[in-house]
Amino acid sequence: MDLALLIDELECPICCQTPRGPPIFQCENGHLICSACKPRMAKCPQGGCELDQQRSRIAENLLNNADIPRPCIYSSVGCFHEDLLSDLIEHETKCEFRKVFCPDLECGEVVVAKELLGHFKEDHPDHVKNDIEDKDLDRCVWIIDPDDLRKRSFTVTWPMSIWKKNGLTFFSVLHKYKNSDLWYSWICCDCPPDLAKTMTALVRMRSKSGVPELTYKGRVHPLDISCNDIVRKASSCLVATDDVIHSFLMGIPDEHKSEHEKDDQKFLLAMEYSIL
Ligand SMILES: [Zn+2]
Ligand SMILES: [Zn+2]
Ligand SMILES: [Zn+2]
Ligand SMILES: [Zn+2]
Repeated sequence: MDLALLIDELECPICCQTPRGPPIFQCENGHLICSACKPRMAKCPQGGCELDQQRSRIAENLLNNADIPRPCIYSSVGCFHEDLLSDLIEHETKCEFRKVFCPDLECGEVVVAKELLGHFKEDHPDHVKNDIEDKDLDRCVWIIDPDDLRKRSFTVTWPMSIWKKNGLTFFSVLHKYKNSDLWYSWICCDCPPDLAKTMTALVRMRSKSGVPELTYKGRVHPLDISCNDIVRKASSCLVATDDVIHSFLMGIPDEHKSEHEKDDQKFLLAMEYSIL
């Protein structure tokens, strides 16, 4: 059978696309309808025939055995990408129309990946430190005035930074969890989960002189994981208690202070984020 004709025959009359895969349903007169459109239809769109759970095994087999490009699973929300199934699955893990978690613990909203930066600007601009810049950074460093930190009683303890390395976008996050004395810090990336697995995050909390220092070396989190899931697994980010932060801010013995810090009455906390 001619491929163009086959594509024509398998096309769903509602979304006008090749079904993504089985099941493919049919009405009592054999008209096809894809599984994405079926839940929205009470009657067959081609003549109002009865529509129940009947499937078209012939259509499913034809689809499975032919090299027909199929639409991205996010086609209903705007993606026009089509590909053979094997390549399509890879595309879908990084499709900019996929839903991701906002990396802001207090927000946690699920948003379309390509709209994430717009979501920051619109919904919580004060939780983000900067506009994304085009130049690559080797690392992202914050020098935090402890007084500023103490003033922040809400969950979003410190506005996140957005930075780039090797063309990927990273988010540096430092949160104090609501009603607890625990602080969490990690790095997220807008890349597909498989790529995130190949990278190592280095998060360091330290005084300006480097003593004491707390380090986390481990996962870079894709945006497909929620903040709550990251926080729940203590091994997936840097965790510090109020007491530890307090010791960073107050309890550094003089002999451990650099000359600069001895002179400087104001102690500063440094957070450093990099990708190894
Ligand atoms: Zn359809
Ligand atoms: Zn029909
Ligand atoms: Zn897509
Ligand atoms: Zn948000």
